[in-house]
Amino acid sequence: MRYQTKFYVDLNILRENISKIKNICPKNKIIFMVKGDAYGHGMIPVTRFVCEELKIREFGCASLGEAKKLRDELSDLDFEVFVFSDTNLEFQSCAEMYLENKITPVISNLNDLNHFLSDYDFVNFPLTLKFDTGMNRLGLSTLDIDKVIALLQKFGRKKIFHLFSHFGEATTKIECGSPAYCQYEKFLDIKKKLSDSGIEIENSSIANSAAVEQGFALEESHVRPGLISYGHSSLDAEQRGNSLWSGRSISRLETYIISAFEVDSDTPVGYSGIKAGSPGVVALIALGYADGFTNRLSAPEIKYKNFKGTFLGRSNMDMSRIFFKGVTKKDIQIGDRVLIWDHDNNSLMKLSDTMDSIPYEITSTITPRVPRIYKLD
Ligand SMILES: *Cc1c(COP(=O)(O)O)cnc(C)c1O
Repeated sequence: MRYQTKFYVDLNILRENISKIKNICPKNKIIFMVKGDAYGHGMIPVTRFVCEELKIREFGCASLGEAKKLRDELSDLDFEVFVFSDTNLEFQSCAEMYLENKITPVISNLNDLNHFLSDYDFVNFPLTLKFDTGMNRLGLSTLDIDKVIALLQKFGRKKIFHLFSHFGEATTKIECGSPAYCQYEKFLDIKKKLSDSGIEIENSSIANSAAVEQGFALEESHVRPGLISYGHSSLDAEQRGNSLWSGRSISRLETYIISAFEVDSDTPVGYSGIKAGSPGVVALIALGYADGFTNRLSAPEIKYKNFKGTFLGRSNMDMSRIFFKGVTKKDIQIGDRVLIWDHDNNSLMKLSDTMDSIPYEITSTITPRVPRIYKLD
């Protein structure tokens, strides 16, 4: 565990972000996505806060194990939890876990649908279906809609508790004829076919962050924003200017300078004897790839005092090197704090853009060696 490298999670900002989402879509309920350890922010404290303080009662996980952890560790709270992708419904032991813990599997293939409908234990369990409307990832094929309807009729199911789909390309401008627009048309078509067959759809949702940010597909009962709740636009850089979103990052990652030394342009540094190319100071920070911080893709810029540093070479397991060109040893204080990103809505975005990554890839890969520290006024 680190002591001076800290991943701060500000729950006050999370509250602000959710209230901003509600301003964009006041009529929709929210399924709050907490998969991937709440995108790296800590699933248990985040879910507790969102459920108790923000009164959101529906949560989305990717795997059954995540949902089970919520049930085990938050047994005093009353909420719904969905498992979206890694359902394992075909295993009897997993089917029992759903039943015993009131965890709702999202059914996204005919095999699972058969298992679910033919297992008498699930007869009073909420039925949820996810259709693939064009993302080509996971979901029942829209071509199988007649088979789905026939199966529901065969087993006397008249209600779908929640009908889902997921957008593949909503991070670019959504307009008539764009991929997300066409997906939504397909979704509406599926809804109509189900209703025309006498099947009631109690709830439905398709909008992820990128759709919410563009005010799209808000006619459904629910929205499922992940990234924007944690603070970042999920739109492509050129589309971000048109976002309705104005939240802030709930996280801040800080570390400190373990050591610093002057180098010349050709001083060999570290494992591969990398050279800085000009004189300056190399500072070692307490953050490496075993903390989930890898700068393998490219080297972002880091601000410290009035200096701008760049990563020199790859991050090591336990440390990374930041090079400050043209400065001397007296400018760099050992023990000083270095901010990797802050709560403003730009610094992590800029970092992830330069690392050719996305904010949630970065936050969710920061490992437990970096403690999560929660702030709430
Ligand atoms: C992750 C996920 C979301 C949220 O996506 P964001 O881009 O983070 O808003 C919504 N729905 C499902 C099914 C997901 O897996």
